[in-house]
Amino acid sequence: MKTLCWIRRDLRLHDHAALSHALAAGETTMVFVFDTHILDKLKNKSDKRVTFIMQSLQEIEKKLQAKGSSLIIRYGKPEEEIPKLCEELKIEKVFANRDYEPYAKKRDALIAKKVTFETFKDSVFFEKHEVVTGSGTVYKVFTPYKNKWLEHFEKNDKTVSNYECPLKNLRKFENKHNVLDFDWYINIGFVEDKPLLHGGTNEALKRLKKFDDVISEYTEARNFPAIEGTSNLSVYIRFGNLSVRDMIRAAVSKHSDGASTWLSEIIWRDFYHMILDTHPYVEKESFKRNYDEIKWLGKEEDFQAWCEGRTGFPIVDAAMRCLNETGMMHNRLRMIVASFLCKILLIDWRKGERYFAEHLLDYDLAANNGGWQWSSSSGCDAQPYFRIFNPYTQSEKFDSEGVFIRQWVPELAHASKKEVHRPEKAPIVSYEKNRARCLVMYAAVIPKDK
Ligand SMILES: Cc1cc2nc3c(=O)[nH]c(=O)nc-3n(C[C@H](O)[C@H](O)[C@H](O)COP(=O)(O)OP(=O)(O)OC[C@H]3O[C@@H](n4cnc5c(N)ncnc54)[C@H](O)[C@@H]3O)c2cc1C
Repeated sequence: MKTLCWIRRDLRLHDHAALSHALAAGETTMVFVFDTHILDKLKNKSDKRVTFIMQSLQEIEKKLQAKGSSLIIRYGKPEEEIPKLCEELKIEKVFANRDYEPYAKKRDALIAKKVTFETFKDSVFFEKHEVVTGSGTVYKVFTPYKNKWLEHFEKNDKTVSNYECPLKNLRKFENKHNVLDFDWYINIGFVEDKPLLHGGTNEALKRLKKFDDVISEYTEARNFPAIEGTSNLSVYIRFGNLSVRDMIRAAVSKHSDGASTWLSEIIWRDFYHMILDTHPYVEKESFKRNYDEIKWLGKEEDFQAWCEGRTGFPIVDAAMRCLNETGMMHNRLRMIVASFLCKILLIDWRKGERYFAEHLLDYDLAANNGGWQWSSSSGCDAQPYFRIFNPYTQSEKFDSEGVFIRQWVPELAHASKKEVHRPEKAPIVSYEKNRARCLVMYAAVIPKDK
């Protein structure tokens, strides 16, 4: 049988469910489509994520060429490009890994009407129907979800599949338009801008190995933005340079408190993907619908100050400037700036979510939406609305010497240990006053929230 493996957010050649099945079924050709539905929406034509993808594809191409094969690249609408390619190559069946985002589900449903198409579980460990309550409904609270997730995992003797991908079954052919010899940037209307983290499985595996040395310290170290206490693997899992199973294998091979905490974070990732899959409306609306009645009191100029890192709150400004320059932001800082935008600047979480979507290298709809709705209290299992992060105490606690702040806010490089957290110059709003306004704003529509 002639098969096609269509890679999307799974840019690797190992432990790949769809590729493994395609190779087992017959002679396989691989394809990646630069999707104009997605690319046309990117305002920044030097978006670092495009370079990250290109780097990942180049690495794949080298490995395929070593086997006498090549990766076909297409640019256009997948619902047109995939059927066209099937026609040209006389493909009998298309294989791909499942994607749970609303756009991807719609796209795949369209394709399935045009070609023989099978999708596989790959990007999450458990899908929506696998971790459910005793009465068969999906969980809306993380801790019982996590307990059930772990119970299933243990029941299966902690088996983590590893999908074999024997590349000898790939179709051998020459491809003039391969991603190494042909300038795809020009063709798709983008320019190269290298991200700090190089795309591809080689780099991802190196980082995973390096993280092994510090995973036992993770529970504590993960809170401090000035140290490398987390794995920095999110972009690699986002684009599938690594499989989620690679990460889980790494977590369970260690027996430490840090490794268990790290596994919990990967379970959070499954949880948010399940929530998006089962409640697709969260893409645009609050999970708890009454939160959409909030009358946000914030001002556009304050939103701009937040985006540009000039609010006068050093930890917030440092985090936003770091995001703008690198496309990266530590989890602790994501929680601080998101809470700050909604609860101190009184601005709708959707504006912050969109800004992150444009700037984060690891942007993932499910995790980003989950994080924002958690921070604004509108999400499932979110913090209650009256819990408001104090940017001054967060800063003193998690960047006590101001190391991170001094790096990103040079005007405070020589400030005293006290001033680096709370400079004399007045910020754009008063934390204390706006905290009080926030409580009134939320309570006006959510009187019964606990
Ligand atoms: C407002 C906000 C927005 C966020 N947006 C995104 C996003 O767009 N993409 C994204 O991958 N993560 C997002 N997160 C979650 C988290 O901040 C990042 O996953 C983490 O900072 C990535 O760094 P790391 O790889 O070093 O993580 P580690 O601490 O090493 O964690 C390991 C992996 O677990 C997963 N993970 C960790 N924390 C979470 C979490 N809270 N929710 C879901 N998965 C998690 C990630 O895949 C991560 O790579 C967001 C969090 C918040 C509060």
